[in-house]
Amino acid sequence: MDKQLVFSFPHMGDYHVVIRSMLGELFPGQRVISAPPTTQRTLELGGKYSPDFVCSPFKYNMGNYIEALEAGANVLLQTGLGCRYGYYGEVQEQILRDLGYEFDFLCFSRAHVKPEKIYRVLRNLGCPLSMREILGVMMRTAESLRIMDALDYYIRENVGFEIVPGSFEKLQKQLLKELSEPQTMLRLERLKQGYARAAGEIPVKKSAMPLRVGVIGELYTLMEPFSNFYLEKQLARRNISVSRRMSVSFLLFGKKDRISLRESGGYLKYTVGANGVDSVCQAKRYAELGYDGLIHMKSFGCIPELNVMPALTRLEQDYGIPILHLSFDANTSEVGVETRLEAFADMIDMRRKKAYGTARVSGG
Ligand code: SF4
Repeated sequence: MDKQLVFSFPHMGDYHVVIRSMLGELFPGQRVISAPPTTQRTLELGGKYSPDFVCSPFKYNMGNYIEALEAGANVLLQTGLGCRYGYYGEVQEQILRDLGYEFDFLCFSRAHVKPEKIYRVLRNLGCPLSMREILGVMMRTAESLRIMDALDYYIRENVGFEIVPGSFEKLQKQLLKELSEPQTMLRLERLKQGYARAAGEIPVKKSAMPLRVGVIGELYTLMEPFSNFYLEKQLARRNISVSRRMSVSFLLFGKKDRISLRESGGYLKYTVGANGVDSVCQAKRYAELGYDGLIHMKSFGCIPELNVMPALTRLEQDYGIPILHLSFDANTSEVGVETRLEAFADMIDMRRKKAYGTARVSGG
């Protein structure tokens, strides 16, 4: 294939770093670009060219695609299963073609996500690697994702208590820089251990009982901070320890639908699509662990997460754990979310004081 290929794909948090590195290994000699960072313009572009009724991940992806095409991309990737997202690729491709863009569209969703089909598509695009080599790249990518998610998890719980502001962010950026380069499994193992140790050595001033909030809900809204107004950072600024299990590693390796339904403890009888069951299981687990509150986030119009709201309400009553439900779309007011978050943080702080006589712990 003589044409210079320029690959790109939509954003979701920092995952573009690892995906870019993976594509770079699969297609040596071709260009891989991350879509320009998601901004208000991205959302406006996506909203302008998306049907009204779709949920916001569709719109964000559309905006990312358009900006990537403007930046020179000519091969776009799409993936996704579990809800109507699995049908979005075909619609997005058609809209982009109607807008006059020329590109190849790799849609690994629904029926297309079979190993032999993926292999054929990669080879047709000029991937020179054997099946075995491709599997090696996939395994290293999976390990990179695990390392990245493990560090993120630790940071969420502790960043609100760091003594030197910016210490965790610096470490995170350092890791992302390393993961943006191809790595061997041995080197990845060293990175895993080294970064876990480095994170543990960052000084924090955290009491034995900080306020703890579990974040649950729709996967894209949880993992793309721009789409939720950087809610986790806002919680950290209020000295709250944040836990969120949802991550790409969780989706790839932690999801077990049948077991999850059992673990929902009768709050759900049937699966509800996407990650609805996970939201309930995680909510129940956080409640059992004595978390101070939960924040349930979803995109406006997300059916799976709407379906679980009655179960979450029952859980809230049974365990006496407050749940703040937040719904996001292109018109959501940032100030409105901040105000509700502030009120929620004050409320869980007051409940804590009432229950234990312990004030909010700003570090000790
Ligand atoms: S989980 Fe909900 S918000 Fe996410 S793509 Fe599916 S329907 Fe849309």
